[in-house]
Amino acid sequence: MSSEDTIVQQDVTFADLGLSPKVLSAVTDAGYTKPTPIQAGAIPHALQGKDILGIAQTGTGKTAAFTLPMITRLEKGRARARMPRTLILEPTRELAAQVEENFVKYGKNHKLNIALLIGGVSFDDQERKLERGADVLIATPGRLLDHRERGKLLLTGVEILVIDEADRMLDMGFIPDIERICEMIPFTRQTLFFSATMPPEITKLTEKFLQAPVRVEVAKPSSTATTVTQRLVKSASKAWDKRAVLRRLIDEEGDAVTNAIIFCNRKVDVSELYRSLTKYEYSAGALHGDMDQRARMQTLDAFRNNKLKLLVASDVAARGLDIPAVSHVFNFDVPIHAEDYVHRIGRTGRAGRSGKAFTLVTKSDGKYLDAVQKLTNQAIEWLDGDLSTLLPETESDDAPRRGRGGRSDRTTRSRDRGERREPRERKPEAAPVDVTEVEDAPAPRHDRRDAIRQGNAERQEARAPQPRRDRDDRNRRYRDQDDVNTVVGFGDDIPAFMKIVVPAVPA
Ligand code: AMP
Repeated sequence: MSSEDTIVQQDVTFADLGLSPKVLSAVTDAGYTKPTPIQAGAIPHALQGKDILGIAQTGTGKTAAFTLPMITRLEKGRARARMPRTLILEPTRELAAQVEENFVKYGKNHKLNIALLIGGVSFDDQERKLERGADVLIATPGRLLDHRERGKLLLTGVEILVIDEADRMLDMGFIPDIERICEMIPFTRQTLFFSATMPPEITKLTEKFLQAPVRVEVAKPSSTATTVTQRLVKSASKAWDKRAVLRRLIDEEGDAVTNAIIFCNRKVDVSELYRSLTKYEYSAGALHGDMDQRARMQTLDAFRNNKLKLLVASDVAARGLDIPAVSHVFNFDVPIHAEDYVHRIGRTGRAGRSGKAFTLVTKSDGKYLDAVQKLTNQAIEWLDGDLSTLLPETESDDAPRRGRGGRSDRTTRSRDRGERREPRERKPEAAPVDVTEVEDAPAPRHDRRDAIRQGNAERQEARAPQPRRDRDDRNRRYRDQDDVNTVVGFGDDIPAFMKIVVPAVPA
């Protein structure tokens, strides 16, 4: 791969980029006045049929950077049954669904057949769409390969291939699948490749599958917006102590919390915290990798439409999602990877508005906190004293405070009348809950079965033996986190005596 760097002009307009009039009109209707740097840099080259290597993360407008030229190019020609003309690979169902929404928005003046192949949805409906002939096929790698193995999909007609969020695909163990898929598509295709970072495995992939790409890179944020007030909040380590600290913070912020995201490092904590908050009658929803598609979408919609005030989420589930700016971010845990802190905080204080970010810190978080402060090049202030001021015996402040923050009015009123007892937290900590318990609404039975099967298949893929380069630290770091994590038995805490290898006795 030899690549060509592009210099992005500052004062370009959408009309300068070469997009078709129908696409331009949809862009105007979307309310965009000026292309973002990734759009200005990538669109003219993509329209010329060149391969693109876009180094950009979510929030930069990268989806439109590939969608708009694709729709323009799709104006010529039509799709044939089972032979999609374009293919977009996304690491998660939400991102795939979000890209579909983008095609609907920007393709409003076109009659595009769009097929979305993701888990949690029945194969039959998806097959019918493929049968009709798809102009645009948006898929997660696992489901795409399932369809191909069922003989319902031919990739030999694909003219444009988009690989989005490639570094995340790497984290989730999808690279072998991506390689297989790339090999099924004619070499004459155009490839548009996007990744927020370029670890060596991704560079290798681009060298193998891109031809003389134009490289467009937009700045990676390593700093947090100055409009965000950040505070560290000391807490004892036990989960119930942390939950009490969190509730106190939410209550003290009161009505200033219009909507907030609460980030946890692990999905078991997402479900546990969600259950606890709802028990205390906070308006809350949960988002993590084990929930079925329907439940995730319902939660996201409810949060976007202000029907839920608090969204408890893991990094993996929330990353890349187009969630509106929030008033507050609460880090229930200090993130293990410092760059996640920047992503989390970036959810608030957008477009010059002010926002607040609180991070709960326990005694064992020292090295993670140091990494965050080093990356962001700042010393974050403590809210009310650092860890040295923590009482040795934590007072377990489970008794909730009065009528503030995210709680429903009903609770506040009834509590003020002294009519109801507040729920108490369980102590000690309950065993990790089965995360499927937290689905917001039960889906019809066949959907649930399908979703579970697909969920299992995707996890299986993520865990399947992979070439050594895919099993390095980048994968390991997610083992304890979201989509690829399931705590089995003792989890990582297997007693030493159980690890002793007992030689087999010959029969
Ligand atoms: P993305 O990085 O593709 O997830 O886009 C992030 C957000 O930016 C989405 O809500 C888009 O609707 C929005 N967006 C994309 N392009 C533009 C633009 N040129 N002007 C304003 N907003 C945009």
